Amino acid sequence: MFDLIPLIKAAGYLGIFGIVFAESGLFIGFFLPGDSLVFTAGFLASQGFLNIWNLVSLIFIGAVIGDSFGYAFGKKVGPMIFKREDSFLFHKENLNKAKMFYEKYGGKAIILARFMPGIRTFAPILAGVGKMQYSKFLAFNIIGGAIWGIGLTLLGYYLGSVVPNIDKYIVSIVLLIIFISITPMIVHIFKDKNTRDRILNTIRNKTKYVNKLVVFNWKMNPETLEDAINIAKESDYKNIVIVPPFVFLEEVGKIIRKAKLGAQDLSYKDSRGGSFTGEVSAVELINLGVKYVIIGHSERRAMGETNSTIFSKIKTAMDSNLIPILCIGENLEERKSGLTRKVIRNQIYSGLSLTNRNNKPIVLAYEPVWAIGTGKPDTIESAREIIGYIKELTDQNCRVLYGGSINSRNINDFLKYPEIDGVLIGSASLEPKLFF
Ligand code: PEP
Repeated sequence: MFDLIPLIKAAGYLGIFGIVFAESGLFIGFFLPGDSLVFTAGFLASQGFLNIWNLVSLIFIGAVIGDSFGYAFGKKVGPMIFKREDSFLFHKENLNKAKMFYEKYGGKAIILARFMPGIRTFAPILAGVGKMQYSKFLAFNIIGGAIWGIGLTLLGYYLGSVVPNIDKYIVSIVLLIIFISITPMIVHIFKDKNTRDRILNTIRNKTKYVNKLVVFNWKMNPETLEDAINIAKESDYKNIVIVPPFVFLEEVGKIIRKAKLGAQDLSYKDSRGGSFTGEVSAVELINLGVKYVIIGHSERRAMGETNSTIFSKIKTAMDSNLIPILCIGENLEERKSGLTRKVIRNQIYSGLSLTNRNNKPIVLAYEPVWAIGTGKPDTIESAREIIGYIKELTDQNCRVLYGGSINSRNINDFLKYPEIDGVLIGSASLEPKLFF
């Protein structure tokens, strides 16, 4: 933005025309400089670098043709645009904002939007999508193009001619123009409670659970694929690992974009395949896009899984580049007898010590068995103490989570401590909306 003067000098008439055209109606041109560009070009004309009449003519024509192009594009492509996925250059949010603005101000939006960066590009497209009468659109387009293109350019030219040494203030003036042009849009957005809440929520969700790992273990739920897809959609945030039952892995994997996929178990018999009825191999999981695998969950230990089986599963997972989430934790009797550290040490050593990890990542989930599914989590002090102890036994490539009756109300009480690298959540993960 501060390099506008050299940019304009290098771009010349054709470049200015191209930028104004693209910014006016070319969909991906919304990020280009508009107000500041035409003002600065007017200023440069006052200094003899450009001819002011050629300049205003080109800017006016570029603005009007650009808007008309946007209109024609909107009319042709129509509702398909709304189905487009967000990308670096395209945000549906901007399109929706322009739509709201347009619905509120009708044809005048074409004129007002000229002065609103971002919205400027989408207003003519939406006029086309909404099939506004072309003669009416053109009239507003010409008026807007004239006030904006000719007006702002002449303003730059005029100030450049009458204010001595204006080049010293040009950056401040350009900043002021940008500030004035975006202020009404910001005020408009923040005046509306729904829009305000949506924006604040987006920011909150983007920063939520930053640097933490949150594992959603669905266990043997839900009953239908339809429910699985809905839950997955609502859980699809960065730093979340969604761990559905095997039968839903493929479909969940297809719809998630930000979350990672995890499996609830894997076979240690063979990482590729073989005659092992009922088992699921590491390669099959990887081919479905699985990144993490829970191993040694207390519910599986209760079904007879031993430390030696768990060790084999960890080795299989690691050899296949899956990240194991090894669950460890004492039962109530062990806790009462003061055996927590001993049990945990034993589970970690038998699970990990013989594995040649080659520094590969692993996740440990400290899950006191008596806290799982009971609604009674460990106290934060105790969880922090045990996790601190686990960290003494492991290395930096090992993240340590807490699990056991975590829900949307208590999650932050745990996550706020730096030594707790994340949480593993069971039943509450089936209602993800509450967490975001
Ligand atoms: C779990 O499944 O490991 C778990 C912690 O469950 P819940 O959150 O329901 O206690």
